[in-house]
Amino acid sequence: MTRVHAYAAPSEAAPLEKTEIDRRELGPHDVLIDIAFAGICHSDIHTVRGDWGSQTYPLAPGHEIAGVVAAVGPEVTRHAVGDRVGVGCMVNSCGECRNCERGDEQFCTQGAVFTYGATDRDGTITQGGYSEQVVVTESFVVSIPDALALDVAAPLLCAGITTYSPLRHWGVGPGSRVAVVGLGGLGHMGVQIAHALGAEVTVLSQTLNKKDDGLRLGADHYYATSDRETFRNLRSSFDVILNTVSAGIDLRAYLSLLDVGGSMVCVGLPNEPLPVPVGALIGGRRSLAGSNIGGIRETQEMLDFCAEKGIAAEIEVIPASQINEAYERVLASDVRYRFVIDGATFAD
Ligand code: NAP
Ligand code: ZN
Repeated sequence: MTRVHAYAAPSEAAPLEKTEIDRRELGPHDVLIDIAFAGICHSDIHTVRGDWGSQTYPLAPGHEIAGVVAAVGPEVTRHAVGDRVGVGCMVNSCGECRNCERGDEQFCTQGAVFTYGATDRDGTITQGGYSEQVVVTESFVVSIPDALALDVAAPLLCAGITTYSPLRHWGVGPGSRVAVVGLGGLGHMGVQIAHALGAEVTVLSQTLNKKDDGLRLGADHYYATSDRETFRNLRSSFDVILNTVSAGIDLRAYLSLLDVGGSMVCVGLPNEPLPVPVGALIGGRRSLAGSNIGGIRETQEMLDFCAEKGIAAEIEVIPASQINEAYERVLASDVRYRFVIDGATFAD
């Protein structure tokens, strides 16, 4: 075991604090990564605060990890010392079930091992990327293309794949009319990716405060959802709505914006279940769906796509000592558009 500096929540009610965590010795297929940058996802906040169920503490979150390979186990073939690599929301799965075989490890029938707060194969609780180093089995480590700097690549490991996967699954391309609800970490990636796929993109944000950014990121249109006119004017005008909102929203109002046969895909996961307005689905043969990150192969595909299209996250780099302030700003929708922790500061 190696002890490394990390930032962890000691309980669901307390702020994160500097601590040390253990990383396992390298197994034959393990990769040791020096973490250069770790993104702050809203899911980190939901999880450490117990929004989605009780956790084992202390818990170091972080599943948007970008870094450099420091050492490899004797049987590793996919990565070498010095490679620029990333780790997202999962660090293992059974590898044999129908979902793993298809490349959907996030739906592993045995349960994927998530990067933090999950029970690992050895019975320990996984600890995430808010730390100096991490040890991950090679098949869950992806390569970061040279065209992407590590700091702006880190958020792609969750925010990038979580928006890329549904946009691809629901066939978004030229001619698609796509609305992205919420211009935060996920939303600002969703806008860029949908635009790069050739869609006509509309942002639906609470206010017009970030309109200039939204248009610069590739949106064609931008509307405030606080203005009821928005819902009247945009009735039946989208094929796909990607909902990235971390809180509950009025599904009936948003479903009415879908054209006949359109799909609303939720990736934002609020604390409380939302009632399903079945009449709004029936009234336009509409679908309401969800999507959970994406598989490892698709994550690599997404990174290569972003590198080719020249898109990445817009970030604010912070030292680890400012994680708790960053959390408050994320909760206040005051993030432009992802906080990324400088991995060199976990030991400070
Ligand atoms: P974020 O950066 O905080 O962005 C969420 C955005 O939602 C905010 O910027 C804001 O956009 C909007 N919003 C927030 N509160 C709202 C409210 N009460 N009403 C309406 N809009 C509101 O969060 P994120 O990191 O993108 O994550 C978003 C959600 O996705 C979280 O619930 C997270 O846990 C979840 N998530 C899911 C997956 C998955 O695989 N399904 C993966 C990662 C994250 P505006 O200011 O533009 O209105
Ligand atoms: Zn995430």
